[in-house]
Amino acid sequence: MGEFSLELNEDQIQIQKWVHEFAENVVRPAAEEWDEREEFPWPVVEEAAKVGLYGFDFMAQAMLGDETGLTLPIALEELFWGDAGIGLSIFGSGLAAAGIAGNGTPEQTLEWVPQCYGTADDVKLGAFCVSEPDAGSDVSSLRTRAVYDQANDEWVLNGTKAWITNGGIADVHVVVAAVDPELKGRGQASFIVPPNTPGLSQGQKYKKHGIRASHTSEVVLEDVRIPGSCLLGGKEKLDEKLAKAREAQKNPQVSSGKQPAMATFEATRPSVAAMAVGIARAAYEYSLDYAQERVAFGKPIIMNQAIAFMLADMATQIDASRLLVHRAAWLSRNGTFTNAEGSMSKLHAGRTAVWVTERAIQILGGYGYTREYPVERWHRDAKIMDIFEGTEQIQQLVIGRAISGLRIE
Ligand SMILES: Cc1cc2nc3c(=O)[nH]c(=O)nc-3n(C[C@H](O)[C@H](O)[C@H](O)COP(=O)(O)OP(=O)(O)OC[C@H]3O[C@@H](n4cnc5c(N)ncnc54)[C@H](O)[C@@H]3O)c2cc1C
Repeated sequence: MGEFSLELNEDQIQIQKWVHEFAENVVRPAAEEWDEREEFPWPVVEEAAKVGLYGFDFMAQAMLGDETGLTLPIALEELFWGDAGIGLSIFGSGLAAAGIAGNGTPEQTLEWVPQCYGTADDVKLGAFCVSEPDAGSDVSSLRTRAVYDQANDEWVLNGTKAWITNGGIADVHVVVAAVDPELKGRGQASFIVPPNTPGLSQGQKYKKHGIRASHTSEVVLEDVRIPGSCLLGGKEKLDEKLAKAREAQKNPQVSSGKQPAMATFEATRPSVAAMAVGIARAAYEYSLDYAQERVAFGKPIIMNQAIAFMLADMATQIDASRLLVHRAAWLSRNGTFTNAEGSMSKLHAGRTAVWVTERAIQILGGYGYTREYPVERWHRDAKIMDIFEGTEQIQQLVIGRAISGLRIE
């Protein structure tokens, strides 16, 4: 087990510097253009693949080859400091990868995770498809059905997924579906839909408030047939899980096992929180510089306590968020994660990003409200951080249950 330490090791310092340079030299200069275009920033993602930032090897190194758990949040903070829409375009496949690694066998992970990335010359994408038009926070009531066709050893998927990052443009779609709807969340399983499978199509593409470079679409599944081997974790394990869940339904004393989507979210929440820290830091640094240069009433505006104290609070909230993120990431990697720590990090960092970016607009005054300056974009981008991967209220629910041991509704 790694020791908890606030000091980054040599590798992490190198990675932090390397991602920061990419964010500063490649991502930031492209941010405004792709936000305005509202299109997936292929050239930037391809560039990230060329330097090795987008790809299986980097994700494996950041996620598995790091006993502290801090490498990934450090990299994400820097990347999202550059730009959140492009950052999510680069990291979006990581959600699919986490869904596969969290629910699949080691063989399935090795087969499918690299296909979520492709190669530097032929970039591919992954998508993690859980949410539906009528099931966002309430993941237990998914309507997408997976039915087993025993004669052909195939699964047949039908349903509509909503709000899917990389939906329809991904090569590998990881789909969470109900196998036994009566068992609600305990009756769900995760499936791989391989590239070019007939029946999977992109529905509407959403026009968004922020992170507009990131592609978000509906994914429609119409009689999508996939081989039995595409059930993550395998049939035997699923049958065991379903039997246990049915037993638990009859006898509440029996533990009913984990929900597949929940297992993924547990692992990814500190990562999302790290993204929020990156956006907040970008806005804080920008407004700190601005406040030292902008003169009003004959002196730099930072010489007013009203402005300096605002910046002091911003710096403090960002540091507090980062500490919560690093704690959650470390616990997650070292096996003592109880879920609430991940939710705490995301709750605090998401709120901080929204608040800090709003304050940054305030510090820039009228200029901050225009699209000539990046702070309004950062504010729009920040808002997603307390919506996806569990809203602010859902994090409070998870924390409330963890601290009380009660089934708070
Ligand atoms: C840009 C973007 C990208 C996304 N990417 C993905 C993706 O790649 N894959 C994926 O599967 N999903 C994705 N999502 C979906 C996202 O996770 C959901 O939008 C989110 O979980 C909220 O669900 P909902 O939109 O249905 O809101 P609802 O669940 O309808 O919630 C509406 C409001 O009610 C509150 N609420 C709901 N239930 C409770 C409760 N029990 N107690 C208190 N308050 C409650 C919520 O906090 C919220 O304020 C994405 C969403 C967006 C906007």
